[in-house]
Amino acid sequence: MPHLKKSETVLKTTYRPEQRSCPICRSVLKRDHILWRKYMLFSTGAQVVTSWAYRCPQADCPENARVYRSAAAEKLHLRQRRFSRELVVRLGYRRLWQHDTLDELHAWLTQELQLMICRREVANLLLDFLALLAAAQPARIRTQLSRLPGLLIAIDGMQPEKGNDCLYIVRELQSRVTLLAVNLVDSSEDALCEHIFAPLQSLAQELRLPWQGVVSDAQESIRLAVAQSMPGVPHQACQSHCLRAAGQLTFEADRAMKKQLKAAFRQALPRLRHRIEAIPPTDPFRSVLWDYTTALQSVLPEGGVAPFELGGLRVFEALADLEAAVLRCQKKGITSCYAACSP
Ligand SMILES: [Zn+2]
Repeated sequence: MPHLKKSETVLKTTYRPEQRSCPICRSVLKRDHILWRKYMLFSTGAQVVTSWAYRCPQADCPENARVYRSAAAEKLHLRQRRFSRELVVRLGYRRLWQHDTLDELHAWLTQELQLMICRREVANLLLDFLALLAAAQPARIRTQLSRLPGLLIAIDGMQPEKGNDCLYIVRELQSRVTLLAVNLVDSSEDALCEHIFAPLQSLAQELRLPWQGVVSDAQESIRLAVAQSMPGVPHQACQSHCLRAAGQLTFEADRAMKKQLKAAFRQALPRLRHRIEAIPPTDPFRSVLWDYTTALQSVLPEGGVAPFELGGLRVFEALADLEAAVLRCQKKGITSCYAACSP
């Protein structure tokens, strides 16, 4: 890995405009002055990058005063930042896609890339990355939506606790693009119309796309806001929310069963281990029985996801499988051990 210490000799790169000749008189452009020269940090090392301005050399050309610059050079940096755009993007990728923590990022920059940087500056670079993402999002949304016959959106609000701001997220369901994410203090019909549905309407008008439908959890203010801002557009209640509400009783009953099962086995497990420890180490069944207790312990924390994945049922089935396996062993002739260890 290259080292990026300032003391070391750094690579010097020079850029010139991609345009080589004057579009008016066709003369070859001439080097004029340095636009900017910058010490920049890339993931491959430090570089001093120079971007040259070129101009048409003909004194009588009407475009004589025009300055030409390299687009490639402009893409390398962010204004007033020594970190290259490439390094900022890598950092953001590691944070948001690979879920590296701030400390892991700091370690990567300081140890692997040998950069002098404090933890606080890493956090600032992540803000730069988010700004880049936000700047790119409108173009991305427009490209993806332009291929669609119409807009079909899902809207949902998330509130960590009562009294907190509510984060509303709007996604287009065919392209799976997130169109809007808005934090609202007030979740009234008027606030939703103003901050969510009005921007969506102007986006649809700009792209000339008709509305095909809206899906939501049928929260009253959303229902009223859709009826007011998009009259006549079909509005459907979200199936996932409905099923979750319908399955609430089953899910709660399952959770109660899981709690009982866990409590019963957690009490029995230490006793069971105690008995196995009493078996002589030379006994071949000892390790087999240990494996069973390990298996027993690992099935107990199985979780569930409402509405269909029932954790209690899963634990019950796993325990039944274990029981069947133990019974098979018993038939094969470890009756005495099984009797000794049965909880
Ligand atoms: Zn010219």
